[in-house]
Amino acid sequence: MIRIIHQRDKCIGCNACVEAAWSRWRMSRKDGKSILIGGIKKKYIYSAVVGDDERSENIQASVNCPVGIIQLIQM
Ligand code: SF4
Repeated sequence: MIRIIHQRDKCIGCNACVEAAWSRWRMSRKDGKSILIGGIKKKYIYSAVVGDDERSENIQASVNCPVGIIQLIQM
């Protein structure tokens, strides 16, 4: 399993994470930032634990994020 961590307040709404891992990310129509689907909020940080089957696409999302606000932790 992996934990995905998203510093949402720093998101610039570029859509790159959605393109890389559309089943885990979507864009908010309210504020134009991305949403980590299934993410739980703690202060300004969202995190979600997902299966290894989502690993490669979310590594790509993390690599593609131009502001480096998606981190992955192997569990
Ligand atoms: S790739 Fe990064 S900056 Fe772009 S929408 Fe996703 S989290 Fe936000």
